[in-house]
Amino acid sequence: MDFGLNSRQLELRDVAQQFAVNRIRPAAERLDRLEDPASTYPEALIEEASDLGLRTLGLPERYGGSGADALTEVLVLEELCYGDAGFGMTLAHPWREGRMLAELGTEAQQERFLTELIKDRSFVTALAITEEHSGSDNALPYTASLDAGPRTTAIRHGGHWILNGRKRWITSGNVAKLILVVARTDASVPWPEGISMFIVPREAPGLRVGVIEDKLGLRLNQNAELIFEDCAIPHDQVLGEVNGAAPILRAIGPSSKAKEGAKTLGIGRAALDAGRQWAASRVQGGVPLAEHQVIGNSLAELAMELEAARTLVWRAAWASDHDRGAADSLSDMAKVLSSRVVVRVSLRSLELHGGHGIRRGTAAERNLRNAVTMLHATGGNDALLARLHRDLWRAGS
Ligand SMILES: Cc1cc2nc3c(=O)[nH]c(=O)nc-3n(C[C@H](O)[C@H](O)[C@H](O)COP(=O)(O)OP(=O)(O)OC[C@H]3O[C@@H](n4cnc5c(N)ncnc54)[C@H](O)[C@@H]3O)c2cc1C
Repeated sequence: MDFGLNSRQLELRDVAQQFAVNRIRPAAERLDRLEDPASTYPEALIEEASDLGLRTLGLPERYGGSGADALTEVLVLEELCYGDAGFGMTLAHPWREGRMLAELGTEAQQERFLTELIKDRSFVTALAITEEHSGSDNALPYTASLDAGPRTTAIRHGGHWILNGRKRWITSGNVAKLILVVARTDASVPWPEGISMFIVPREAPGLRVGVIEDKLGLRLNQNAELIFEDCAIPHDQVLGEVNGAAPILRAIGPSSKAKEGAKTLGIGRAALDAGRQWAASRVQGGVPLAEHQVIGNSLAELAMELEAARTLVWRAAWASDHDRGAADSLSDMAKVLSSRVVVRVSLRSLELHGGHGIRRGTAAERNLRNAVTMLHATGGNDALLARLHRDLWRAGS
């Protein structure tokens, strides 16, 4: 394992860093305060990011992307999320879904959907798995009951599949131009054996957007309900095999969770910087707060915990490309540890700000809201730990 970063990685990280500080952060400070959750979507900023190559980062170079590996993705994502984690979360979707199309799509699917994704500067994508009754079930996966897992159905009629059901919490569900939808194609078997993945354009007849979640944090990230009512999708828009979605989800799991870790690191670094700056300038007892030893030590401890979490996130990202056997467990650890560390860092940072930290609109309160929201993304932490427990002991390590 070599974490010596190459010049391309350093260059991409710099581009993301500049963009985060100069463009994302100022926009986020304004958009985060808007009441209507549907009004916070930063489309112009997505287009700007696209011009810098940041929207198509994960796509193979032969399709016009940057061909970034998982380690490069986490480096860039931490920077973007330093600017705003909701924005970073939105932008990371086309990396993943674009790569899924590039690796699993037929030539015709690539020609029709990937070409457009690359060309259109505002093209973002979504992956729709979660339903009202089925969240952590998808992460575990829980198979003891046939009721577990997605209940959105896809039933074949001639050359089409007819989709019915509702998805919840779908990142960019209301703005994505293309959605990869997981639906039950065989209800007689536990869900991992009976789900398929469908490529669904936003304008598909029978698809409409429902509730847009009004969230505590990550306000720039849209989380929408998708309602399928006799939504007819041609058979040639099945991605991969019929009843073959579970292996696809397993394959993308580790890098997705390493990236969840990277998003939290971005929030944590923003929180630490805010805490450090405040402690350096706020004078109490005749000296800046940072010169009170207990506060200096506290800042050092937060930096240490953040660095430990980062090491695990990098290791999980590297494993997802190079050591598949270890990747599942490492990425679960990375997501759980980093999200917990970052809640601690953000809370302590807020505490160091005293009364100022709990004023609405300050960096300290925004960072804490964003950190808490990350506890639930890509599976709740307890569910991930339940899976980790199972995987570690099944592996006999
Ligand atoms: C910001 C954000 C973005 C998201 N984006 C998407 C998206 O793009 N696409 C998508 O499909 N979904 C998305 N989700 C949904 C997300 O994946 C789910 O919220 C998550 O899987 C948890 O499901 P749930 O909210 O239904 O919680 P539940 O499954 O109801 O869990 C509730 C609590 O119980 C715990 N728990 C559950 N089962 C067990 C168990 N067996 N043992 C111990 N503890 C357990 C969990 O850890 C959690 O703390 C997003 C969520 C958020 C917050």
